[in-house]
Amino acid sequence: MAAGRGGRQPGHGRAALRVVAAGARGLGAACLRRCPPLRLPLRRLACRAAAAFMALAGPLLFRVGYSLYTRTRLGYLFYQRQVRKARERYPHGHSVSQPCCFPGVKILPIPVLSNNYSYLVIDTSSGRAAAIDPSDPLAVQAAIEKEGVTLEAIFCTHKHWDHSGGNAELCQQHSSCKVYGSALDSIPDLTSPLTDREKVSVGCLTFQALATPGHTVGHMVYVLDGEPFGGPPCLFSGDLLFLSGCGRLFEGSAETMLASLDLAMGLGEDTLLWPGHEYALECLTFASFLELDNPALDQKWQWVMQQRQEKRITCPSTLGEEQTYNPFLRTHRPELHAVLGLQQGAGEHPDAFRARVLKEVRRRKDLYKAP
Ligand SMILES: [Zn+2]
Repeated sequence: MAAGRGGRQPGHGRAALRVVAAGARGLGAACLRRCPPLRLPLRRLACRAAAAFMALAGPLLFRVGYSLYTRTRLGYLFYQRQVRKARERYPHGHSVSQPCCFPGVKILPIPVLSNNYSYLVIDTSSGRAAAIDPSDPLAVQAAIEKEGVTLEAIFCTHKHWDHSGGNAELCQQHSSCKVYGSALDSIPDLTSPLTDREKVSVGCLTFQALATPGHTVGHMVYVLDGEPFGGPPCLFSGDLLFLSGCGRLFEGSAETMLASLDLAMGLGEDTLLWPGHEYALECLTFASFLELDNPALDQKWQWVMQQRQEKRITCPSTLGEEQTYNPFLRTHRPELHAVLGLQQGAGEHPDAFRARVLKEVRRRKDLYKAP
């Protein structure tokens, strides 16, 4: 699913919402066009009434669209359409990726759909591999065949089709492959439900699942232990955390999301961040409107701009880097409070205040439209 983007999100119930909203806008505009005698004050009144109606009806329409996407076959059909269109538009993937290798392990980002990343993580000594969020089964299968590895596990961060849509087809082709994820999230073809902090081995690789609700109720991230191969931990963050962004709060409060982000940040600054989407340029541009004088943000924006001009992948970053420019991880920063016009209330718990800051940043990001 598309998670962190603002008004241009292609995924979820937004598609259904777009159809309904476009119809409502068109109807309103048509009404106004057909009523030229309306005087200006009356016209303003009509506009305000329409805005008030949309303010009330918008969230309701969104909930309806989201439910259709996540709970009915319509969502699956919409996902299939997304896959078809993306394969036509990006026959070689939306981005140019390159593998990241440490002794004994290879991490291969696979660009899928219009901005998602799946990952193939390979134990190079045994040829056993795990796939993270394999939403386009053809692209992931092509990578498996090219690498000549055995798919033992699928780690699914959450139920949205753009993260889980390839589970069934890959399981048909790899009969011993298990699908891991949270039982709270209705993940398609889930065979092995995981609980918070549970570990799974794939060859010599060890993954730990961390429950990180907020985007969905059962969202999980997976941490590859770097110690056995002398590398940093690797965080496969799904729609919890992106380069300079975080996932939308579809099924959780700002307090819940803040706790999940804090949990992830506890992994340490050298942890490599492998997100579920290529949103870096848009998220950094949004962040630059919030923080006008942040050299780390400027520097990362310049680098990402260059990368994206050549359609190159922008991950991984590190959690240490993210703390310097990602506004969703900077809810404690006074400069951000000043820009947002928020102050900690007398007697307000610091975490309650940070959740309020996170909610406001998320609200602004939801309204933000990339240029
Ligand atoms: Zn999602």
